[in-house]
Amino acid sequence: MPAVQLNSDVVLGVAIPSRNARGRIARLGEVVDQVLANHGYPPEIEKLLAEALTLTALLGSLLKEPQGQLTLQAQTKGGIVDLMVCDYLGGALRGYVRHDPERLAGVGAEPTLKQLFGEGYLAITFDQPVANERYQGIVPLEGKNLGDAAQSYFAQSEQIPSLVRLAAEKNDGHWVAGGLLLQHLPEGEEGRERLHTRLDHPDWPHIAILGGSVKAGELTDADLPLDDLIWRLFHEEEEVRTLDAAALTRGCRCDPDYVRSVIARFPADEREAMVGDDGMIRVDCAFCSSSFAIQPNELT
Ligand SMILES: [Zn+2]
Repeated sequence: MPAVQLNSDVVLGVAIPSRNARGRIARLGEVVDQVLANHGYPPEIEKLLAEALTLTALLGSLLKEPQGQLTLQAQTKGGIVDLMVCDYLGGALRGYVRHDPERLAGVGAEPTLKQLFGEGYLAITFDQPVANERYQGIVPLEGKNLGDAAQSYFAQSEQIPSLVRLAAEKNDGHWVAGGLLLQHLPEGEEGRERLHTRLDHPDWPHIAILGGSVKAGELTDADLPLDDLIWRLFHEEEEVRTLDAAALTRGCRCDPDYVRSVIARFPADEREAMVGDDGMIRVDCAFCSSSFAIQPNELT
């Protein structure tokens, strides 16, 4: 297997066994540019989606099953953003944001989560089809950024002391985003049911301080390999292990045949109403902005 490069478009597992800490570190470059390319979002929304995709990669890579899917969906009320969806499947990421550009223009360059989402919630869904496991946690979209919201997800829904840091920066027209997730798992391996959780274990504050010292500029420095950054943060620990690295890609799973089969299920009169001036039914994929043109008479 060729070695995965550890600078960009990659997520790397991390373990600090003597402190019962585990986590993931991720960086996205080209993948973010590719996801954003067709949307034409303003910079504030681009940054939001870049961070959301990074969080999706961190959480998605926790799934055990290669067929497992992780979905991040913001449900909002009265915010500038009324929909944000990202998902992860086998290292492939996609996402989009629906927002009100006029209202966005009325706030500053660094809108708060509250301004963006209003009374918003973040739904995080872990879906593992082979084990037939589906689990959803919902947390309020509060705090400075999505990292804070994810952190309270782990604290509230899973009762795992966690640290989440996210950053994204655009330089010379290209985005780089990075994220760090660390968790305290004192009762054994990740994924196993915990009988009780000690939120006051002395190992955790130590790891949280070291991990929390990571700078946004380090997370988004594409010249700094992720294993070097982990070493920089934790080199004084007895043992620091890097685990599997997974390459990240931009992937959309929209499929012309599937789109056609969905349209074919509509009653004939409704299908007729969908036909445009050019005699075709056009369906756009919200994720990748691909447009599918379907011949109405292909459907019968
Ligand atoms: Zn698509």
